[in-house]
Amino acid sequence: MIHPVLDPKLAPPFPKAALPVLRNPQLRKNVAHATDVITSKRGRLVAEKDDWQALRDAASALRAHVLENLGTYLEQFEERCTAAGGVVHWAADAAEAREIILNILRDENASEVIKIKTMTSAEIQLNPFLAQNGIEPHETDLAEIILQLGKDEPSHIVVPALHVNRSQVRDIFARTMHLPDLSDNPQELTAAARTYLRKKFLTVPTAISGANFLIAETGGVSVVESEGNGRMCLTLPRTMITLAGIEKVIPRYRDLEIMLQVLARSATGERMNPYTSLWTGVTKGDGPQRFHVVLLDNGRSDILQRERERQTLKCIRCAACMNACPVYRQTGGHAYGSVYPGPIGAILTPQLMKMEYAQSLPYASSLCGACYEVCPVKINIPEVLIDLRAKVTDQERNEERRFFDPLYLGMRMANKVFASAGRFQAAQRMMRIGLKPLTGKDGWIRSLPAYGARWTMTRDLRGVPQQSFREWWTSRANGKAKP
Ligand code: SF4
Repeated sequence: MIHPVLDPKLAPPFPKAALPVLRNPQLRKNVAHATDVITSKRGRLVAEKDDWQALRDAASALRAHVLENLGTYLEQFEERCTAAGGVVHWAADAAEAREIILNILRDENASEVIKIKTMTSAEIQLNPFLAQNGIEPHETDLAEIILQLGKDEPSHIVVPALHVNRSQVRDIFARTMHLPDLSDNPQELTAAARTYLRKKFLTVPTAISGANFLIAETGGVSVVESEGNGRMCLTLPRTMITLAGIEKVIPRYRDLEIMLQVLARSATGERMNPYTSLWTGVTKGDGPQRFHVVLLDNGRSDILQRERERQTLKCIRCAACMNACPVYRQTGGHAYGSVYPGPIGAILTPQLMKMEYAQSLPYASSLCGACYEVCPVKINIPEVLIDLRAKVTDQERNEERRFFDPLYLGMRMANKVFASAGRFQAAQRMMRIGLKPLTGKDGWIRSLPAYGARWTMTRDLRGVPQQSFREWWTSRANGKAKP
């Protein structure tokens, strides 16, 4: 098995990383099956709602309003959360967030920590960092357990182990839980995970969560999940640490009414997610007695500055765009080299990395628009993809090593040719002669030599016509044009 690299600084470019996946029929079958099931459930549930488009409009407007007033709502959240007994920390980047969490855990003398599924902790590579510092993290979401015990990485943001099938889960559990007689019966697998988890819930006194929403009005946090493991982490431990991206805030408690409706339907094709947990500060004698929130920036403020790309931060991590994406459905998530795969990952990851890494991701799309159509908060992903592609090209154009790159050489020449009508017409005549031997009887070129072969490898090229429009127009004026 090839171990996936989900660190954008180290991961290979998308076309290279996608190749082994495309050659793995089992993995493609697992991904296609899982995304088909979720997509058809989502379709049924969305069709049930007469006001689905109005709900999308409301959710989109709400998220846009938050981003326009982010500072105000974050300050309000900090004030209310602190008043309720929570402690709010601000982390400018991943390193700072990791240090804050490590220091809290050290103050607690923690040697282990239980975790509710959180993409943000994967974004800052928290688990390996804690392990290096002598603190053992235990995932409690079933899919995350499968990945942690199987030393694998998530390939989807809602169903992180969707690339793994039941018999593969059995093998992982049988090996790591020392249960050689375990079958791949779902009840048996769930019972094995439950026994494994109960011990952790009852013995580990510190927990880490992410947040689906931070509520400015109350200073509260909300997490939605489908197994109840999150609720166990929220009630049993003594200390709770929540790590959340700054964009997760919503203004009011009642805004959950909209957000929970669109999230559950888009994410798992359910009317309502099975467990919605809300907690605000601490309550004496009930639940965790110490509560910390770490608000993570890690590049988000930069994204906020850019008018068109800002919409990326409206995302509520439902993963509907992934399930609909024809590219993701062929490759699964690992090829994206980031904890955020699929269309949202293709626009979020390079921006979080300040466009220094993951620059192949904006090209990992057919621009078909399926992601935009299903996004419950109406993020125009194709628009952002095109913008990012322009940025990548601008950056590359100025790199010295690109000076003799055939693509950029060709583009510079094309630039000169297109800038002058005379040069353009001369080039047309030369190409008509030069390409003639390669042009078929039907007027199409099936195969170009040298660098041009990269174009014709996947598509045909129209040959240069025997007469251009300009030539036809001139001969028409001279009375020689054919009708
Ligand atoms: S971009 Fe839209 S569809 Fe994709 S995960 Fe985010 S909210 Fe969901």
